[in-house]
Amino acid sequence: MEHRARSRSSRLAVPAAAAAALLALTTACTGGTVQGRPGASGLRDPYFPKAGNGGYQVEHYALDLDYEPAGNRLRGRAVITARAEQGLSSFNLDLSGLRVDAVTVRGEAARYNRAGNELTVRPAEDLKKGEVFRTEVAYSGRPKTFTDPDGSKEGWITTPVGAGSAGGAGGEAGAVGVGEPVGSMTWFPGNHHPSDKAAYDITLTVPDGYEAVSNGALRSRTPAGAGRTAFAWHSPEPMASYLATAVIGKYRVTTGRTPSGVALYNAVTPDEAAGSAGVLARLPEMVEWGSGRFGPYPFGTAGAVVLPAGTLAYALETQTKPVFPGAPGTEELLLHELAHQWFGNSVSPESWKDMWLNEGFATYAEWLWTEEHDGPTAQEEFAAFLEGDTEVDENADSDWDAFPPAAPPGPEDISGNPVYYRGAMVLHRVRQEVGDEKFFALLRGWAAEHRHGNASTADFTAYAEKTTGHDLKDVWDVWLYGKDHPAAPAPR
Ligand code: ZN
Repeated sequence: MEHRARSRSSRLAVPAAAAAALLALTTACTGGTVQGRPGASGLRDPYFPKAGNGGYQVEHYALDLDYEPAGNRLRGRAVITARAEQGLSSFNLDLSGLRVDAVTVRGEAARYNRAGNELTVRPAEDLKKGEVFRTEVAYSGRPKTFTDPDGSKEGWITTPVGAGSAGGAGGEAGAVGVGEPVGSMTWFPGNHHPSDKAAYDITLTVPDGYEAVSNGALRSRTPAGAGRTAFAWHSPEPMASYLATAVIGKYRVTTGRTPSGVALYNAVTPDEAAGSAGVLARLPEMVEWGSGRFGPYPFGTAGAVVLPAGTLAYALETQTKPVFPGAPGTEELLLHELAHQWFGNSVSPESWKDMWLNEGFATYAEWLWTEEHDGPTAQEEFAAFLEGDTEVDENADSDWDAFPPAAPPGPEDISGNPVYYRGAMVLHRVRQEVGDEKFFALLRGWAAEHRHGNASTADFTAYAEKTTGHDLKDVWDVWLYGKDHPAAPAPR
């Protein structure tokens, strides 16, 4: 069986949470009508405590990103429409690197301060609880690549120009912005935690001759003057910020529709076009297949972006258009990222501790796909792991059973093998207990229950027991939370 290089054998030390103390911002209040207090600088995620911010929820991001590949220069304008959940004298956005040029709130200049990855904004007047307000941040600079706790790269990554493409003069190349788990703060300011989902309009302005691809549907492609073109992308469905993407470079674009009418948009780097064609041709069928197994496809558009090989060390399920570093080598990989559109993107994790709800489900979806196509069955996959004849990684730390999927030891483990494989095995154990009919109803029900929302592991275990009517405590204790190597289930 195929295994992707997604685990890292080295366990890097977790970078200490940005400990910089914020300027003490006073809660001065003009007129004495509203008394706000500062919003929290983090959402206390168990693994990324400073990710996200308290006191407001974003409804919409309008990102206007003007990018110059020569020199990797970005000029950005983020208009963030949010609802205050408390009276706010100040609030934070997450932003890493770049220069902040100006900030306004409700159209009025706001004071701001930066410390670590926190941008603290103090509006001229306090915001009222329940108020919907607009914040505009103008920023610029050279966005940078961010190294994850597990050693992999995310954030803003420049890409080479493929030999088959037309660019390259003067060092021009391309770039991709990706965010799982916390890299989106390197290319736009926001509430960067999966629990705050919002609609997006992302407009990318790039030199003529370049393609610029983002999430959702391409609304317009218009000349922007000075030899540049603006691509306006629209994502109406809620999106967690780690699923936002921007891809800039020389790509071959193809569009189409699935049999049931989902719009498709694929962008493929020329060097990988031949190698990608076979697997990408299966995408329409896979969207239909997923809709049958998991319920209606959650988004108006689907597709894939094939980046120059080696751009990333992993594929990522960026919303509506997963990105692949080079041709997706297997159907299973394409299917995995598609399955995330239901599990992870529509039903998003409440915190980074709940990653198995993304990866265990997407891995199980691969097993279901192979079960219904050329094999092996999910039972065979499950048994192969359990019997230990499936080599995932040479390092024992990343064996499928190294830790419980619902409790990765640290942030460097949230994409570790147990989250994927033992996570999938949890689902197989549930299937063994409840039978196929209830199990498939559970998968569809779960996707429907939390469609376009967030859910936690506790939500899942409670939902599974309620809808199947089975007591699954032993499955959770042994497979999901247990530290020990799970024993083979008793033959039934
Ligand atoms: Zn995945």
